[in-house]
Amino acid sequence: MRKVAFVTGGSRGIGRAVVRRLAAEGYAVGIDYLQTEEQARALEAELLAQGQNALAVQADVADREAITAAIRRVEAAFGPVTALVNNAGIAEQHQFQDITDAFWHRIFAVNVDGAFHTIQAVLPRMIHEKAGAIVNISSIWGQRGASCEAAYSATKSAVIGLTRSLAMELAPSGIRVNCVAPGVIRTDMTEVLGEDTLSSLAEETPLGRLGTPEDVAAAVVFLLREEAGFLTGQVITADGGFIT
Ligand code: NAP
Repeated sequence: MRKVAFVTGGSRGIGRAVVRRLAAEGYAVGIDYLQTEEQARALEAELLAQGQNALAVQADVADREAITAAIRRVEAAFGPVTALVNNAGIAEQHQFQDITDAFWHRIFAVNVDGAFHTIQAVLPRMIHEKAGAIVNISSIWGQRGASCEAAYSATKSAVIGLTRSLAMELAPSGIRVNCVAPGVIRTDMTEVLGEDTLSSLAEETPLGRLGTPEDVAAAVVFLLREEAGFLTGQVITADGGFIT
């Protein structure tokens, strides 16, 4: 069966690195994005120019109808999705008392409901084929608490709970579900922290540097490979030793 991947939030950051790696591994890749159309189209063009198969599709993962339609477009172009990467995510730091209802519901809608929607969209075909692999992107803040990160941390813990339960439920159907929990990775998401904070975070990291999107993509791609065929329900922490 043809290898077809769907990566949410694939236009930049960690998602883009995952898309590039999967395309290099021979996957036809659906690149979902929310707003950065130019970057998604540029990535699509880059992969097509290398003779790889890619299709950029716009959809908010929080919108079940829109993200399901985006997955169907990719399936119409390449065939059923065999590998799903739930990477789209948002983060903001707030003191707990300052979190608004709107922000609380939005961060859960994107970081948790997003995975709920995509997984339900791809599952019927995966169950039919008795094959498939899903990787959800959590965070070290889903494994450990962090000040001013209560909402984000709660969503990322939810992603771990979802991964572990689904791994058990779907194992008899031959579908593996795993998680990657990145540490501090240099992307637009962490740029807002500023150079001083990023330098001290790098110093606090046992491996002495911040992570790159490629560091995370390597773990994601490994979990999707057949050689990881006996791994399910796992959380791989890619953090340079930060929370060990
Ligand atoms: P990023 O640079 O901010 O990129 C986020 C990506 O997600 C973009 O492609 C964005 O699309 C997309 N996205 C955001 N909201 C979306 C929505 N509602 N629907 C569809 N796509 C949406 O983030 P990143 O640092 O690469 O993070 C990727 C994932 O890793 C996230 O789940 C994040 O929580 C997790 N993570 C990151 C770090 C880190 O240090 N960077 C650490 C731990 C975990 P547009 O560009 O179109 O907006």
